[in-house]
Amino acid sequence: MTIENRTALITGGSRGIGRAIATALGFAGWNVAVNYASSAAAAQETVEHIAAHGGQAHAIRADIGRSADRKLLITETVARFGKLDLLVNNAGIAPTQRMDILEATEESFDRLIEVNLKGPYFLSQLAANAMKSNAPGPDQRVGNIVTISSISAYTASVNRGDYCVAKAGLAMMTKLFAARLAELNIGVFEIRPGIIATDMTAGVKEKYDTLIANGLTPIRRWGQPDDVARAVLAIAEGRFAFSTGQVIDVDGGFHLRTL
Ligand code: NDP
Repeated sequence: MTIENRTALITGGSRGIGRAIATALGFAGWNVAVNYASSAAAAQETVEHIAAHGGQAHAIRADIGRSADRKLLITETVARFGKLDLLVNNAGIAPTQRMDILEATEESFDRLIEVNLKGPYFLSQLAANAMKSNAPGPDQRVGNIVTISSISAYTASVNRGDYCVAKAGLAMMTKLFAARLAELNIGVFEIRPGIIATDMTAGVKEKYDTLIANGLTPIRRWGQPDDVARAVLAIAEGRFAFSTGQVIDVDGGFHLRTL
């Protein structure tokens, strides 16, 4: 099986980290399904960027927080490219407003859990069932599932508790699916980005500029979407064939505790 007929679905591939992942895979010869929620023009830009470099990509609108949309996402990917080999659970949202956990609303909590946790959970279920009957790829696997969580999976930020709880849930989700899908030859990985320059962090840029300059991360620079994309590509290329459930920190060393 050649890489040319392998297909990846990237949720939230229209902007930021997802766009970098979609582009990296598209440039590497993967067929890429670029999911988005509302930014149709941005998704189309990602698709055209990949096509301009000779790749195959297709944009699919779907709100991953909705059950019917998740089903459509998988069905349309398989209809368009024949099968699914790699799911990247990347799409995610921050709370509309950062609020202290003594004040934060149930509405925000419900939406964050729906998009950031329930979406990837049931999309992983659908993807695994779609991958089961694939022929093995270069890593002897029939598929891989990569979830983009966050350093918020283990770092308490009391003004966005809903985001942290959802990301912590993704860490357990990765373990669960890794344990269940090993016998089906599907690899499952979690990538934990640190502070990455995207629209999501644009509003807190100055705060993080200062924190980074003062040593918040041992590697004193902002992460770029491409830093995350390179890690996904390594998994996609089958470099981790005897690993599963692995957490890969792409965080400039944030997770190190130093004294
Ligand atoms: P952006 O806000 O730049 O992009 C978010 C992407 O997710 C967009 O493509 C957006 O689509 C899509 N999206 C949002 N909601 C939905 C939905 N309901 N259904 C489908 N797609 C949706 O975010 P980032 O690129 O910064 O973040 C990507 C992931 O990385 C997120 O899970 C985030 O939590 C995580 N992360 C980010 C960090 C950072 O510092 N930036 C750090 C750690 C983790 P549309 O364009 O249509 O709105």
